[in-house]
Amino acid sequence: MAIPRIDAEKCTGEQDCFEVCPTEPNCFELDEWDVGPAGARAYMSAPEECIECGACEVACPPGAIVIE
Ligand code: SF4
Ligand code: SF4
Repeated sequence: MAIPRIDAEKCTGEQDCFEVCPTEPNCFELDEWDVGPAGARAYMSAPEECIECGACEVACPPGAIVIE
């Protein structure tokens, strides 16, 4: 496993990644200045918090999260 990366070209702003991320603080934040068809896009704001659970990759509707 590795830290997730968001493919900005695929991200529609569904925010599921933000909802399912179990860490506190959340690994993601929503960027109100970068809005996709479904809402504000997420970005990795705290990658050091990631426990590599993979939940965000599974949850993302358009498959915009890549774990390499
Ligand atoms: S769940 Fe996917 S589409 Fe939605 S904000 Fe996160 S990366 Fe973007
Ligand atoms: S892999 Fe888990 S801990 Fe890491 S960003 Fe995704 S949901 Fe959060």
